[in-house]
Amino acid sequence: MEATKKFRIKKNDTVVVTVGKDRGKRGKVLRVIPKKDGLIVEKLNMVKRHMKPNQQTRQGGILDKEAPIHISNVMLVCSKCTAPTRVSYRVLEDNRKVRYCKKCNEILD
Ligand SMILES: [Zn+2]
Repeated sequence: MEATKKFRIKKNDTVVVTVGKDRGKRGKVLRVIPKKDGLIVEKLNMVKRHMKPNQQTRQGGILDKEAPIHISNVMLVCSKCTAPTRVSYRVLEDNRKVRYCKKCNEILD
Protein backbone atom coordinates (compact mmCIF):
# COMPACT_ATOMS: atom_id res chain seq x y z
CA MET A 1 0.00 0.00 0.00
CA GLU A 2 1.31 3.36 -1.07
CA ALA A 3 0.07 5.15 2.02
CA THR A 4 1.87 2.94 4.49
CA LYS A 5 5.05 3.08 2.47
CA LYS A 6 5.10 6.82 2.67
CA PHE A 7 3.62 7.22 6.11
CA ARG A 8 6.23 5.97 8.43
CA ILE A 9 4.85 8.22 11.12
CA LYS A 10 1.74 7.24 12.99
CA LYS A 11 -0.68 8.75 15.42
CA ASN A 12 0.77 9.16 18.94
CA ASP A 13 4.33 9.18 17.66
CA THR A 14 6.55 11.99 18.84
CA VAL A 15 8.11 14.03 16.08
CA VAL A 16 10.57 16.90 15.89
CA VAL A 17 10.12 19.72 13.39
CA THR A 18 13.14 20.25 11.16
CA VAL A 19 12.24 23.51 9.40
CA GLY A 20 10.43 26.78 9.97
CA LYS A 21 9.48 28.69 13.08
CA ASP A 22 8.89 25.57 15.13
CA ARG A 23 12.22 24.04 14.19
CA GLY A 24 13.59 21.83 16.93
CA LYS A 25 10.31 21.58 18.78
CA ARG A 26 8.81 18.23 19.61
CA GLY A 27 5.23 17.19 19.82
CA LYS A 28 2.85 14.29 19.70
CA VAL A 29 1.13 13.40 16.45
CA LEU A 30 -2.61 13.83 16.89
CA ARG A 31 -3.67 13.04 13.37
CA VAL A 32 -2.24 11.84 10.08
CA ILE A 33 -3.67 13.25 6.86
CA PRO A 34 -2.42 10.95 4.10
CA LYS A 35 -4.08 12.90 1.30
CA LYS A 36 -2.12 16.01 2.16
CA ASP A 37 1.04 14.30 3.35
CA GLY A 38 0.34 16.16 6.51
CA LEU A 39 0.47 15.65 10.24
CA ILE A 40 -1.35 17.46 12.98
CA VAL A 41 1.10 17.76 15.83
CA GLU A 42 0.02 18.81 19.29
CA LYS A 43 0.75 22.50 19.98
CA LEU A 44 2.93 22.87 16.88
CA ASN A 45 2.35 25.00 13.81
CA MET A 46 -0.43 26.85 15.57
CA VAL A 47 -2.54 29.18 13.50
CA LYS A 48 -5.35 31.49 14.37
CA ARG A 49 -8.59 30.42 12.83
CA HIS A 50 -11.45 32.75 12.45
CA MET A 51 -14.50 30.74 13.25
CA LYS A 52 -17.83 31.60 11.79
CA PRO A 53 -20.78 30.95 13.99
CA ASN A 54 -22.26 27.59 13.16
CA GLN A 55 -24.70 25.17 14.61
CA GLN A 56 -22.14 23.47 16.81
CA THR A 57 -20.45 26.47 18.36
CA ARG A 58 -23.22 29.01 17.99
CA GLN A 59 -20.70 31.80 18.28
CA GLY A 60 -17.77 32.83 16.15
CA GLY A 61 -14.39 33.98 17.28
CA ILE A 62 -10.69 33.35 16.94
CA LEU A 63 -9.39 29.95 17.79
CA ASP A 64 -5.83 28.67 18.08
CA LYS A 65 -5.61 25.51 16.09
CA GLU A 66 -2.90 23.19 14.83
CA ALA A 67 -2.31 23.41 11.09
CA PRO A 68 -0.97 20.41 9.21
CA ILE A 69 2.81 20.08 8.95
CA HIS A 70 4.16 18.43 5.83
CA ILE A 71 5.61 15.04 6.56
CA SER A 72 8.93 15.97 4.97
CA ASN A 73 9.35 18.70 7.57
CA VAL A 74 9.48 16.41 10.57
CA MET A 75 11.52 13.52 11.85
CA LEU A 76 10.34 10.78 14.11
CA VAL A 77 11.65 10.89 17.65
CA CYS A 78 12.56 7.42 18.82
CA SER A 79 10.60 6.45 21.92
CA LYS A 80 13.50 4.31 23.10
CA CYS A 81 16.59 6.47 22.67
CA THR A 82 14.77 9.85 22.29
CA ALA A 83 16.90 10.79 19.29
CA PRO A 84 15.40 12.07 16.06
CA THR A 85 15.75 9.23 13.62
CA ARG A 86 14.89 7.95 10.22
CA VAL A 87 12.51 5.07 10.31
CA SER A 88 13.28 1.79 8.68
CA TYR A 89 11.29 -1.36 8.38
CA ARG A 90 12.27 -4.82 9.36
CA VAL A 91 10.39 -8.04 8.81
CA LEU A 92 10.29 -10.27 11.84
CA GLU A 93 10.40 -14.06 11.89
CA ASP A 94 6.62 -14.20 12.07
CA ASN A 95 6.43 -11.99 8.96
CA ARG A 96 5.31 -8.93 10.87
CA LYS A 97 6.65 -5.76 9.37
CA VAL A 98 7.74 -3.41 12.10
CA ARG A 99 9.40 -0.04 12.26
CA TYR A 100 12.75 0.26 13.91
CA CYS A 101 15.09 3.04 14.90
CA LYS A 102 18.27 3.33 12.89
CA LYS A 103 20.06 4.87 15.83
CA CYS A 104 19.50 2.34 18.58
CA ASN A 105 18.07 -0.57 16.56
CA GLU A 106 15.05 -0.87 18.82
CA ILE A 107 11.71 -1.87 17.37
CA LEU A 108 9.23 0.97 17.62
CA ASP A 109 5.90 -0.76 17.14
ZN1 LIG B 1 16.26 4.80 18.97
